[in-house]
Amino acid sequence: MSEVRTYKCQFCGFEFSEKEAESACSSCPISSCEKLCCPNCGYEHLPEPKLIKLLRDRRKRKIKEANL
Ligand SMILES: [Zn+2]
Repeated sequence: MSEVRTYKCQFCGFEFSEKEAESACSSCPISSCEKLCCPNCGYEHLPEPKLIKLLRDRRKRKIKEANL
């Protein structure tokens, strides 16, 4: 079973698949930016697990800086 993952634009609410997002982002100078572009409005989304990881890393870094 091949399940197509769909995403919902946080900006305009448009639903799109990962492939649609890839083609919408083809004009991006960084071809492997891993961002999901809304084909409808062009809003860029970070895939959720990475966004959470990024936020966690940032928090860790802040704690480290505070201890210095
Ligand atoms: Zn959108």
